[in-house]
Amino acid sequence: MADEKKDRALGMGAKITRRDFLNGVAITAGAAMIPAEMWAAAAADLDPLESEAQNVGSQNPESQNLGSQNLESQNLAGYYPPSKTGLRGDHVGSFETMHRVRDGVFWGDAPKAIDSGESYDLVIVGGGISGLAAAHFFRKAAGEKTRILILENHDDFGGHAKRNEFRAGNAMRLGFGGTYSIESPAPYSAIAKGVIEELGIDVPSYPKYVDKSLYRSFGLKPRIFFDKATFGTDKLVINALHEGGDESGLNDHDADAKTIFAKDAPISEKAKQDFQRLFETDKDYLPGLTSDEKKARLARISYAKYLAEVMGVSDELIKLLQAFPHPLFGVGIDAVAAQDAWGLGLPGFAGLKLEPGPGKGMNRDCIPNEEAEKYFFHFPDGNATIARLLVRKLIPGAIAGDSANDVVLAKADYSKLDEASSPVRIRLNSTVVKVQHVGSPESAKEVEVTYFSEKKLKTVRAANCVLACWHVVIPYIASELPEVQKKALASAQKVPLLYTNVLIQNWSAFQKLETRAIYSPGMYFSSANLDLPVSIGGYECAKKPDEPIVVHMMKAACHPGKPAREQHKLGRIELYLTSFETYERNIREQLARMLGAGGFDPAHDILEITVNRWPHGYAYEYNSLFDQFWLDGGEQPCQVARKPFGRIAIANADADAYAYTDCAIDQAYRAVRELTGKQKG
Ligand SMILES: Cc1cc2nc3c(=O)[nH]c(=O)nc-3n(C[C@H](O)[C@H](O)[C@H](O)COP(=O)(O)OP(=O)(O)OC[C@H]3O[C@@H](n4cnc5c(N)ncnc54)[C@H](O)[C@@H]3O)c2cc1C
Repeated sequence: MADEKKDRALGMGAKITRRDFLNGVAITAGAAMIPAEMWAAAAADLDPLESEAQNVGSQNPESQNLGSQNLESQNLAGYYPPSKTGLRGDHVGSFETMHRVRDGVFWGDAPKAIDSGESYDLVIVGGGISGLAAAHFFRKAAGEKTRILILENHDDFGGHAKRNEFRAGNAMRLGFGGTYSIESPAPYSAIAKGVIEELGIDVPSYPKYVDKSLYRSFGLKPRIFFDKATFGTDKLVINALHEGGDESGLNDHDADAKTIFAKDAPISEKAKQDFQRLFETDKDYLPGLTSDEKKARLARISYAKYLAEVMGVSDELIKLLQAFPHPLFGVGIDAVAAQDAWGLGLPGFAGLKLEPGPGKGMNRDCIPNEEAEKYFFHFPDGNATIARLLVRKLIPGAIAGDSANDVVLAKADYSKLDEASSPVRIRLNSTVVKVQHVGSPESAKEVEVTYFSEKKLKTVRAANCVLACWHVVIPYIASELPEVQKKALASAQKVPLLYTNVLIQNWSAFQKLETRAIYSPGMYFSSANLDLPVSIGGYECAKKPDEPIVVHMMKAACHPGKPAREQHKLGRIELYLTSFETYERNIREQLARMLGAGGFDPAHDILEITVNRWPHGYAYEYNSLFDQFWLDGGEQPCQVARKPFGRIAIANADADAYAYTDCAIDQAYRAVRELTGKQKG
């Protein structure tokens, strides 16, 4: 069959790890096989949790797997999740139990809970940066001997801050499976900065670890891939949208980019003129309004609408810009307010002569801040290094070494994470299904936490509990909370994303095509970038084009044209239901099409693939197009959601609706203060 031949050419049969075959369960449904009625029902205006329950719950083949968990124990020799490839992120075995709780079918056939007899000063639900930071703050407040248990449903700690490790011959290659870098649109608070410094990370020293001139020395530049289905032909063209340097230090802006783009881009003359107009126009497209009035107008229309209806820009350019905000918001310009696009420096606003400074309802990501821009550090495994440094601080025997540099190569010993002799314990593959005060929340001395692990239901008790997990989960496990708070918690949508790391034999195709970063607005993945050239703590990045390297490909699972929350809901369903095979075919096809002219052969050149699937990705940030309260001011849902209740406090980046590590740390600090303050009183 022709397709089989095509698959062979793509290397679909090549020897790489294809799936997490845990308990013999593989994902079989492809996105193309999702029944139409399921999409329709998911798109209906139902309660977000309810609609997902009705759809992903009963029909997802994985969900029928009776809450299967990774049976592998973290105490076994050789247990080392960072080196697993295939489907990672929210891997098989991590989510089924919670989906069954959500669907109301877990308790019906749950085993009888076993009282473990364990008792702690603090139990933390969620082992992401917020949960780990909460343990760190609690110890500082209550002393090093305090007993803390962290329960995490994944097979690794760190949450979104996930380390992907590869081997290529003798070389080690690291990748970030999620949280990419220390960076935030607003300056880190004194608290968050304090943690970074305590961990030994010297942010100002970052430039000395990045080889800024490496890619430039080979003439590599950011490019755009115009694809046939969207633009009529497959073509790689210089990226003239890229305005130059970014915080990473790779300043490879080409002064002639716009001229070259105008010559090479496969778009109509009208689109080329529009492109020039976008960047050069001095026309006021909103005449007769004050700056504030203009901002107010821009806060209520999408950038796509502004371009199409206010500026009359051609559809080709709108398609070109559509995926530009994917890395930041997980949606395209159809769901990003024009005011936010202005803040991000996107073109088309010069003639409006807007006063500097944010207007009402502006997204925090879009408010330029020089101090924040300078605060940047990318470790080769992203902020997994922060998670690993926190774990080293909490359980010193688990990761050898004593500096933020030597941790990069240090191998974690997972068997040390949950030792009875240690004051702090981290228990992986453990999904918390219930958190309840023992007695009335006002007077209870303890909270009972029930979790499901290795097909057993167990309880532990603690004087305090921090819920550092995703907020949408909390109403299902902490039913005592007031209804209004549960509603606010449930509104914390997550932004679905795919962060894919592809280990390739060499980057000579990138060299021949003179690119290091490809923006591909019409393709399955909207970007494919060579790893940042960072060498630190004995870790050496690839320096020559004939060396293996990790290519990072990103997909925002969005569904343009719908409100942002609905796009996220549909995207989440899509990511859960798409098979690894579908992801793999898309990766191979896309790299072949974009890099084929440089000699890239997917069947030969791809050594490993790790797809980090994050259906519950970024914390949802409020959006002036869809969240009226964000324009009006007043109490935000996240402020209602994070209120303490009895002996339970609530952390996670969701607690301030801000998808950054500093937020995860700040919210952990607040949650711990709420508990320790109460203890003192
Ligand atoms: C792909 C991606 C890239 C990102 N890049 C950046 C970046 O470059 N810089 C940046 O600052 N931020 C980035 N972020 C944002 C990131 O979310 C935060 O920086 C931070 O890592 C969030 O930490 P957290 O602990 O609040 O949440 P999480 O990391 O989500 O941790 C919460 C943990 O709770 C667990 N949990 C949920 N339910 C249960 C349960 N019932 N029982 C037990 N455990 C449970 C979850 O599985 C998860 O492991 C990125 C996020 C994603 C998804």
